[in-house]
Amino acid sequence: DEIERIIRAGMTETPDFPSEGILFRDLSGLFADADGLRAVSAALVDGVDAETVVGVEARGFVFGTAAAVATGKGMLAVRKAGKLPGEVLAESYDLEYGVATIEVHPDTLAPGTRVVIVDDVLATGGTLAATIRLMRRAGWVVAGVAVVIELEALGGRSALPADVEVRSLLRL
Ligand code: IMP
Repeated sequence: DEIERIIRAGMTETPDFPSEGILFRDLSGLFADADGLRAVSAALVDGVDAETVVGVEARGFVFGTAAAVATGKGMLAVRKAGKLPGEVLAESYDLEYGVATIEVHPDTLAPGTRVVIVDDVLATGGTLAATIRLMRRAGWVVAGVAVVIELEALGGRSALPADVEVRSLLRL
């Protein structure tokens, strides 16, 4: 469809980046496409019953903020460890080598707020699974997860809780 065409036009595929055997998808071209950025960002969260879009640093900030502005929602920025002042809730998850930690202020949204989590690429699902855990510990309701690209062979969808709806705009 039209949204898939726009995403493909704004995507590059680079073999063996950042390491041997990885085919890396980059969406910098889509960021730079004014109409495409608006259309794709809106399509991520259109019709989802949530008042706030959640984006994970850093590429989740781009689509998350664009989706929030395009659909009249607020934006919650989930930061990498050590960036937020004051008391934070933290959640860690495994990377290929080592561990990553993400953080949020638990008092940013009211208890029970419905959120939709946005990211550029769903790969193994580790990042989004940790984000879902963080949202639930903070007392917020995950109304859905939305990604621009789902890499189906990596099985990320099955790494997420079965009761969370996952929307992907392009499956590769
Ligand atoms: P995960 O394996 O689903 O947790 O993905 C880890 C992080 O790496 C996510 O933030 C993804 O956006 C990013 N990622 C994984 N593969 C790619 C890719 O091919 N292109 C861009 N980002 C990727």
